[in-house]
Amino acid sequence: MEPDQTSPASTLAVESAQTQTGSALPGVTPEILKAYQTLEDTVRQRRPNDDLASLRRAFEFACECHADQRRDNGEPYVTHPIAAAQILADMQMDLVTVETALLHDTLEDTKATLEEIKRLFGEDVARCVNGVTKLSKLKLLNKEVREAESVRKMLLAMIEDIRVILVKLADRLHNLRTLDVLPRERQERIAAETVELYAPIAHRLGMGKLRAELEDLGFRYYDPEAYAEVVEAIESKRRINDQFLHEIRDTIERKLSHEGIPARVQARVKRPWSVYLKLRKQKIGIEHVYDLLGIRIITDSVKNCYAALGVIHNEWPPIPGRIKDFIAIPRPNLYQSLHTSVLGAGGVAFEVQIRTEEMHRLAEEGIAAHWKYKEGKKGPAEDDQRIAWLRQLVEWQREMRDSTDFMANLKVDLYPEEVYCFTPKGRVVVLPREATPIDFAYSIHTDVGHQCTGAKVNGRMVPLKHALRNGDIVEILTSTGSRPSRDWLTFVKTARARNKIRGVINADEREKAIELGQKLIEREARRLGVALSRVTRAQMESVAGDYGCSKIEDLYAALGWGKYSARQVLTKLAPEVFPEEPPPAAAQPAEKEDAQQGRAAKDAVVLVKGVDDLLTYRAKCCNPIRGEPIVGYITRGKGVAVHSKRCPNVVNLLYEAERRIEVEWARAAGESFHVRLVVHTDNRTGMLNQLTQILFDENINIRSVEAHADERSLDTAVVEMTIDVRDKKQMEKVVGAMRRVSGVRDIERVY
Ligand code: MN
Repeated sequence: MEPDQTSPASTLAVESAQTQTGSALPGVTPEILKAYQTLEDTVRQRRPNDDLASLRRAFEFACECHADQRRDNGEPYVTHPIAAAQILADMQMDLVTVETALLHDTLEDTKATLEEIKRLFGEDVARCVNGVTKLSKLKLLNKEVREAESVRKMLLAMIEDIRVILVKLADRLHNLRTLDVLPRERQERIAAETVELYAPIAHRLGMGKLRAELEDLGFRYYDPEAYAEVVEAIESKRRINDQFLHEIRDTIERKLSHEGIPARVQARVKRPWSVYLKLRKQKIGIEHVYDLLGIRIITDSVKNCYAALGVIHNEWPPIPGRIKDFIAIPRPNLYQSLHTSVLGAGGVAFEVQIRTEEMHRLAEEGIAAHWKYKEGKKGPAEDDQRIAWLRQLVEWQREMRDSTDFMANLKVDLYPEEVYCFTPKGRVVVLPREATPIDFAYSIHTDVGHQCTGAKVNGRMVPLKHALRNGDIVEILTSTGSRPSRDWLTFVKTARARNKIRGVINADEREKAIELGQKLIEREARRLGVALSRVTRAQMESVAGDYGCSKIEDLYAALGWGKYSARQVLTKLAPEVFPEEPPPAAAQPAEKEDAQQGRAAKDAVVLVKGVDDLLTYRAKCCNPIRGEPIVGYITRGKGVAVHSKRCPNVVNLLYEAERRIEVEWARAAGESFHVRLVVHTDNRTGMLNQLTQILFDENINIRSVEAHADERSLDTAVVEMTIDVRDKKQMEKVVGAMRRVSGVRDIERVY
């Protein structure tokens, strides 16, 4: 970064390498202090309300860290972070960004630690410095790799804070400005990385100015011969056309002011890198590039943009097919402008770009502009910016061929309290953190929620309780007639979803309870030999009244919910049958409609205490295994769900106490139960072998086993397995044996 000659810093008398705090800094020259002073002045000017004490501390810390380091050009190393910080200060970035730039190389090259930076400069700066360090460690040597969109994705995926990429871009820009002294080989590598990776990222983020600088500086070293040729061609053409451009500019200014359109008019020459790309892509000679010369009109409103376009077309005939309205349809990176190419005097074509000041600013600064103006604003305007930024990302990924996991991996976490997801059509849905596809479905439409049967996130099926992440594209699968499940209540995060589900379930369950109640009483009547057909409606109503129910349905519902037993009710309906002994139930063959229950009872591994023909099934949520304490709940029409007493759903009292029913394990048969275990271990070879050996020794069937390194710390591994066990005792034996393996840290049973 060139020192700013007009800066007030130049008037500052720098007598010695002493800071304002009076502490002498090792190796700090008057030039360094002056550069810092310029930086501080820039920040103060642009952000007068910020407290600059921490900026100075960051400077001093960087000086200490880099004290004995020099750059390849012989300058003290600290000049580099100061220059990078200056680039960002000139872009009006916030203090966190500027301080990060000052500290960006301290973690990698010096003795400074992340803890220290966190303590001295806070969480935000520490996170950003860490992010930049991670990026710098990436070595992308191969051209194909650098050019792959997936690398850009990965790179962005590594970033938790968009300021990280801004600092990285500034770092890269300053490195390019001082690339001269490096050996040819390193120049080539840095230049290639810049034009193939960093410039496209700047472009994606809409930062036109930074991108242009990166490209043109990079081009110089990327292909020096082509660079020289293109620059020479542009220059000669510019010299020939200087007079021409001047006249055009004057004409436009005159015409516009005559029409009362306020405007700045710039004559511009296409940048060497874009010319180079065009030549390469279209395989044409430079004489055929007709937007080499251009005019840019910057006016005050969209209306005047179109008015100016009219003025231009009135003066010079447009070249058909060259009018582009990026105002109505912005480019993916939110770039807006009107473009047209017209034929000037003597048949010389030139391009005209027309835009408002606001569009111009966005074209030049991109995401940095969003960031700059984000601070201190509350309310809808702020939201608009977030949405615009996200929409931009959506467009971006849509452009790409292989886009599915890009959004999934994107971790730009600017708004920790919310999660932003998208419909497949790109509509933004804002939900609270940890929201699930069910929340998403209900926020789209109540019926979508009710009929939700599954969800795909970024093209992949996920469980309905999957926590959505920023950028997820969520597709809800529905099926007509499908109903919400009570289990959903255990994981939904929005009040809207919760209320809607409750509403349906209450109505649904009442209906099912009525049905079940009716069945229970009919079955009991058969068992006891009571002919219900002879019971009149009036009799029925009267008995319902005895139980405090105003309608017969209410009594059935109460029966279904297990409030009263069918036998109790029957004693009232047909007292004459009692107290005679009921016929033995076992002799009763299962009737047709009860075939399922009959079969279930025969094979059942769980028995309902005192009742032997109720369908039971082990609840999927906890999948209890033989020997575990269990409890049953009467479900709507599906029989009795058997849960582990420790099932989270039971513990959290998600089922009505009235429907609880005592159950016990039936006599042991040869069946087995599958159990899912997650073992956290040291990441060392042979671990998996030792674990599976234990299972072999116990003669346990392994359904699946999968091991991978823990994302959070690489010295830890996670082994997930699904195994078949005979009972609780056997499971405990195996888990105990695994725990004794050295290096096993923890074992969880997951449901
Ligand atoms: Mn650096």
